[in-house]
Amino acid sequence: MKKYEKHVKKYLEERDWDKLRPADLAKSISIEAAELLELFQWTNQSLAEVKKDKVKLEMIKKELADVLIFCLEMSVLLGLDAGKIFMEKMKKVKLKYPARLFKGKYNDTDPGSDNDIYWKIKKEHRMKRE
Ligand SMILES: [Mg+2]
Repeated sequence: MKKYEKHVKKYLEERDWDKLRPADLAKSISIEAAELLELFQWTNQSLAEVKKDKVKLEMIKKELADVLIFCLEMSVLLGLDAGKIFMEKMKKVKLKYPARLFKGKYNDTDPGSDNDIYWKIKKEHRMKRE
């Protein structure tokens, strides 16, 4: 991750964008995430269907890159270690959603069928403000 952070830092400094406000980056992350979401508006393709759709995959790559770039810009400008915060959060998420509760229960014809346990866990954690 350090390699990418260095690249982003240089990119920002070369353009005098290293003084951008965090709020503007948060807005940009959200806007790019919305552009990614828009690619799925009025569709309900499965993972396999999307992977086969080469045109859509190219568009997804572009929007995903936009989101990733703005996320890295924010972490760089705030002096955060993106790799470290990613791993810390992954550790928490793995504990929050134990694999034993989900593994083998995904139903591709009814993707929301394991949502009950997901929402139960999410609600419990929100009550604890985690
Ligand atoms: Mg975009």
